[in-house]
Amino acid sequence: MPTYKAPLRDMRFLLKDVFQAERALSELPYYVGHETHSADLADQILDEAARFASNVIQPLNMSGDAEGCSVSNGVVTTPAGFKEAFKQFAAAGWTGLDGDPEYGGQGVPHVIGNAVSEMMIGANTAWSMYPGLSHGAYTALKAYASDETKNIYLPKLLAGEWTGTMCLTEPHCGTDLGLLRTKAADNGDGTFNISGTKIFISAGEHDFADNIVHLVLARIEGAPAGTKGISLFLVPKFLVNTDGSLGERNPVVCASLEHKMGIKANATAVLNFDGARGILVGQPNKGMQAMFIMMNGARLGTAMQGLGLGEAAYQNALAYAKDRIQMRHEPRLTPAEPADPIIGYPDVRRMLMTVKAYNEGARALTFWLSLQLDVEHHHPDAAKREEAADIVALLTPVAKAFMTDNGFQGTVLAQQVFGGHGYIKEWGMEQFVRDARIGQIYEGTNGIQALDLIGRKVLGDGGKKLQKLSGLLASFVEENEGNEDLAPMLEVLGKAAQQAGTLTMVIGQKAMQNPDEANAAAVDYLRYIGHVTYAYLFALMSKAALEQIALGNDKEGFYKAKLQTAQFYYAKLFPETKALAATIKAGNDTLAVDDAAMFGIERELVHA
Ligand SMILES: Cc1cc2nc3c(=O)[nH]c(=O)nc-3n(C[C@H](O)[C@H](O)[C@H](O)COP(=O)(O)OP(=O)(O)OC[C@H]3O[C@@H](n4cnc5c(N)ncnc54)[C@H](O)[C@@H]3O)c2cc1C
Repeated sequence: MPTYKAPLRDMRFLLKDVFQAERALSELPYYVGHETHSADLADQILDEAARFASNVIQPLNMSGDAEGCSVSNGVVTTPAGFKEAFKQFAAAGWTGLDGDPEYGGQGVPHVIGNAVSEMMIGANTAWSMYPGLSHGAYTALKAYASDETKNIYLPKLLAGEWTGTMCLTEPHCGTDLGLLRTKAADNGDGTFNISGTKIFISAGEHDFADNIVHLVLARIEGAPAGTKGISLFLVPKFLVNTDGSLGERNPVVCASLEHKMGIKANATAVLNFDGARGILVGQPNKGMQAMFIMMNGARLGTAMQGLGLGEAAYQNALAYAKDRIQMRHEPRLTPAEPADPIIGYPDVRRMLMTVKAYNEGARALTFWLSLQLDVEHHHPDAAKREEAADIVALLTPVAKAFMTDNGFQGTVLAQQVFGGHGYIKEWGMEQFVRDARIGQIYEGTNGIQALDLIGRKVLGDGGKKLQKLSGLLASFVEENEGNEDLAPMLEVLGKAAQQAGTLTMVIGQKAMQNPDEANAAAVDYLRYIGHVTYAYLFALMSKAALEQIALGNDKEGFYKAKLQTAQFYYAKLFPETKALAATIKAGNDTLAVDDAAMFGIERELVHA
């Protein structure tokens, strides 16, 4: 049976040594006013969350996977213990951790809220999605709902009395939401009747809470075709009276649950809306804009699934590699035993250190982005808010795709460390692999994240946001010139920032002639930017580790290991960028093959 221990020391390293979070948060009057910016409070929260993750929800991870969810006459039952764990989670205030105190939340910084989320994901990903989706619904309503709606719904969501969902996907449309058919008929009294079918709705129906708040994309009758005619609606499972009490059951019914590869304990529902009453959130036909708020938060949440699962898989693979003896190492590691532990072999170390390095890069990116979110939302200086918002916008698709791709690869490598035992259910490694796979697919596939990066975030604003990232790298290189310990990293970093600009120009120029060029290069380009970002973060971590070593604070070798991980990353993982630069430049030429010869398609192309 696998175990999970929250990586508290690593988290504290990032908060204290690398990002000096307390100091950064002290510049934000919102947190100072609520007294939630201190390192002491963060320490207490992380300790408590770690206990909850390991003691309450991790023990339900394998049983939840084996049992799954079931549905009968629209009523969904979640695996044994799930509901009780959620009640306990809500009662302890975790559901409102980084929520606004005006609505009953605790006003804790996003950077701490997301650290807690990582622990819940690492302990039990399927379970963590129930509060995760609610948090997303809270965020969208807080940004776009009327005061009246906020006053009723937000306290319930933050208290965990009600949960939320995100209803976008329909049978014929996932990526292309412009095709959606769910209709909204105006009742003329401020409500709409919503009709249509949504599929693949995570936490779409369950037995955790008194009510479920569905956030639904639909088209008001007569609205324009495509994404310009989509509006966002709040459709509760039970109608809600003006005093917040529950009214009659709304006709939104779970028709079935999907049978799927992983995250089996999360109920993925097909929902039929049969004239269900809803209210408009935000402006008519501006639903995509409102939903993006939820989707951006959800993308970072999905990114963290790659990290949480990568971490859980790593911890178990490490323990196994120290224990499992096979073959002989030269020199002998355990002479008294008939064989040596597999952790002695470089190839096993390669696998372990790859997973460890990707986890540490991912955690640094998550903490950095979460702190930027705090700045974006609460810094008194508008220029600082804009700068932070640009970094968040640029790197959210990178985090989502790079972290989930590496997370999946990490679970596979950790499974490989177990040899054949990794393939057997009782060790739990195959569950990590199955659970990690979905992160690459939902919340917009990783291919779509890559298109968002190159199209909207980079070429769409003339490279302005990318220049901000390059600027950070260049300043770091300049500030640390002459630091001999960092010199090899600085050299790589300086070149990488330059090459990122060159590659962007290459793609941009080709895309002006043929838009397929951007599509062809997008996934490799995102991976390239992911590596450049991690290289920057590993340089920051190395600098912080060197400082602690110089202060004589490294009796246990914790900081030395940080340096060694960074050196491994630069030597063994970052060089993938060389291949990526070549494949980016290779562009669309070898993909623009003859349709008939390659795919057996006969057609006439019509230009718009
Ligand atoms: C377990 C699970 C849970 C989910 N939870 C939710 C949820 O809570 N709420 C919700 O609304 N949805 C949810 N989804 C849906 C999920 O977000 C979609 O499946 C996903 O966005 C992809 O859409 P699709 O499946 O329709 O694939 P398609 O859109 O049909 O895409 C198929 C393939 O084509 C590629 N593609 C499409 N267009 C382009 C293009 N222009 N250029 C290049 N490549 C392209 C895609 O990248 C993909 O590889 C969930 C799905 C699953 C499986």
